[in-house]
Amino acid sequence: MTLALATEQGVVTTDPISESPLAIRGMTVSYGEKPAVFSTDMTVAEGAMTAIIGPNGAGKSTLLKAALGVIKPLAGQATVYGASLKAHRNRIAYVPQRASVDWDFPTRVLDVVMMGLYRELGLLRRVRARHTEKALACLDRVGMADFADRQIGQLSGGQQQRVFLARALAQNADLYLLDEPFAGVDAATEKAIISVLKSLKDEGKTVVAVHHDLATVAEYFDNVFLINTRKVAEGSVATTFTSENLSATYGGRLAMAQIDQLDLAAG
Ligand code: ADP
Ligand code: MG
Repeated sequence: MTLALATEQGVVTTDPISESPLAIRGMTVSYGEKPAVFSTDMTVAEGAMTAIIGPNGAGKSTLLKAALGVIKPLAGQATVYGASLKAHRNRIAYVPQRASVDWDFPTRVLDVVMMGLYRELGLLRRVRARHTEKALACLDRVGMADFADRQIGQLSGGQQQRVFLARALAQNADLYLLDEPFAGVDAATEKAIISVLKSLKDEGKTVVAVHHDLATVAEYFDNVFLINTRKVAEGSVATTFTSENLSATYGGRLAMAQIDQLDLAAG
C-alpha cells in the first residue's frame, strides 16, 4: 500500500515506510534482562548503500537478525517493501557474519552457491545445466570461478566470504543485507566485494552492510545508520557521518585522534 501525502506546496511525497526496502519500527530485542537493541527505528533508502555502524556489542547483528525474523523481538516490527517480511522474503539476500557459519561436513563451493538457487530449483531439487551455469556466473562475479570444485572449509576467510556473496547473488534479490562483509578479509577480497556491491547499486538494488572500518565509510557508502543499543542517527554520509554523531555512538571508545583522520562530514 502506498500512502500519498500532499504537502502545502502541492508536491506529492510518498510514505517512507511503504516505499522502503526495509523499515524497522520500535524494535526492542533482549537476550536477557538488558536489551541488545532498544526501541529502534530504521528506514533504508532504496537504491543506496547504507552502513550500519557502532561499537562491538552495539546490537548491529541483532538488529539485522530481528528484522529478518531470525530472532523474535520483544517489541517492534519490520516491513519489507511496505509489506510483511513473509510476503517479500524472496527479495532479500542475507550474508551473516562469517564467524557464525560452521562447516561441519565437506561441502563443495559450487554447492554452497547452488543453495542460493533453492527457490528456482523447487521441491525436486533437480539441478539442470542452466542452474550450474548460473552458479558459476555468480562465482565468476566475485572472482572465485576457479574454486568451484574445492571444499568450502579449505578456503581462506576472505575466499569464503566471496563465496557467500556469490550465494547471495544467485538469489537475485533486491535487498542485500551483509553483516561485516569486510571483517578479517584480505585486500583483494575487500576490493572484489565492494566492486560487486557497487555494481548491485548500479542495477538499482539496495545494499545494507554492518561495517566496522570507519576509514572507508565515506568512500564505500551513501548513508549511515549509527547505533549503540539505541539508534543515534541515520542519514546521508554528507550530513550524518559527523564527529558529534561518532562521539555519541562510540563514547570514549573512539579517540579524537582517530576521528581527526576520518573523511567526515562538516557538522
Ligand atoms: P554487534 O553486532 O553490534 O557487535 P550483537 O548484536 O552481536 O552486537 O550483540 C548485542 C548484544 O547482545 C551484546 O551485548 C551481545 O553480547 C548480546 N548477544 C548477542 N547475541 C547473543 C545471544 N545469542 N545470547 C545472549 N546475548 C547475546
Ligand atoms: Mg555483529
